[in-house]
Amino acid sequence: MRDLSIYIHIPFCVRKCLYCDFLSFAVLGAENDGRTGPAAGNPEKTMESYVNLLEREVRAAADRYKDYQVISIFWGGGTPSLLPGETVGGLMELIRKYYRVLPDAEITIETNPGTLTADKLRAYRKAGINRLSIGLQSAKDEELARIGRIHDYRTFQETYRLARDFGFHNINIDLMAALPGQSVDSYGETLRRTAELGPEHISAYSLILEEGTPLYERQAQYRFPTEEEDREMYLLTDSCLSAYGYRRYEISNYARPGYECRHNKVYWERGDYVGFGAGAASMVDNVRWSNPAEPEEYEAYTADRREPETAGILTGAEQMEEFMFLGLRMMCGVSRQRFEELYGQRIEEVYGAVLYRLYRQELLVCEADRIRLTVRGIDVSNYVMAQFLFDR
Ligand code: SF4
Repeated sequence: MRDLSIYIHIPFCVRKCLYCDFLSFAVLGAENDGRTGPAAGNPEKTMESYVNLLEREVRAAADRYKDYQVISIFWGGGTPSLLPGETVGGLMELIRKYYRVLPDAEITIETNPGTLTADKLRAYRKAGINRLSIGLQSAKDEELARIGRIHDYRTFQETYRLARDFGFHNINIDLMAALPGQSVDSYGETLRRTAELGPEHISAYSLILEEGTPLYERQAQYRFPTEEEDREMYLLTDSCLSAYGYRRYEISNYARPGYECRHNKVYWERGDYVGFGAGAASMVDNVRWSNPAEPEEYEAYTADRREPETAGILTGAEQMEEFMFLGLRMMCGVSRQRFEELYGQRIEEVYGAVLYRLYRQELLVCEADRIRLTVRGIDVSNYVMAQFLFDR
């Protein structure tokens, strides 16, 4: 039996955040920024039809994975918590019927404050969902408003409390740094308030201004943190969260011992995962593919039960590159022995010159079997990762 992780994409949000370029459609229409999508109009019906397609895809793919056991499931989006609880429960039941889901599988659902209710939480518990991820981003209402989030801090607190009341004891909170109008102090306050609540896991990413988003167009209206402030925020994340007992286990992810996200580790360790839903990505046996992102095309794709079209088998060189730049994201780094088992060559034979240069620059360190980033290396991780690409 081989291990498999399942990702389920729910491309609906109450409305679009101003910085968002993910595949998600606003169910409240154009209210926020003029961007609408197929969900505007009759959201319940649109979501229901979408879930029908998902069910079709989940059923049709089952045969391909009969020799696999599912170790994690991740409901991402979008805002999966917009779906009615029984819809989530129904799809979970279907997955359990067609796939061998291990009893201790990690099952996460992404949620946004204000979209959770007691009924939904009850349904999640019943469906075996054992991990919640809540998108807070900032504890400052004015910062939340500037980036077009649907909630304020108080709504988040209510959501968090409700989740705890319903017995969820594995909760992640998402935070963002480098927001418009954010200062190092206000970011520090967000970090402290979050850590004081004591979630099991905290993710902290810097905002990236994506072209084509309303925030990108409006950037001149705001003061964004300078590069230096951005760096200070980055360093503060680690010092503040460590002081509260969190351990950084990946460049942007922190957890209490034993609560590292198993699903994300599958991506960084290049395990097999299959994505269901519009635009969802998969990689199984070193073959990568993505589902069509456009709703009509996704519908046709599930109707035809086509084999994935955009599949591409990764070459040995591509696999080695990924092994390095994904694996090095984790603080435990990569295993030299594992590299040799997978690719039949010692890591030094392939990357010797790069490795020795990075050791000399004190960006990487080798301790017995593991090669990992140093504190300096974490700071310039993009540079370090780029050194492992073959055709630079
Ligand atoms: S909640 Fe997430 S997916 Fe939805 S619009 Fe905001 S950033 Fe995008």
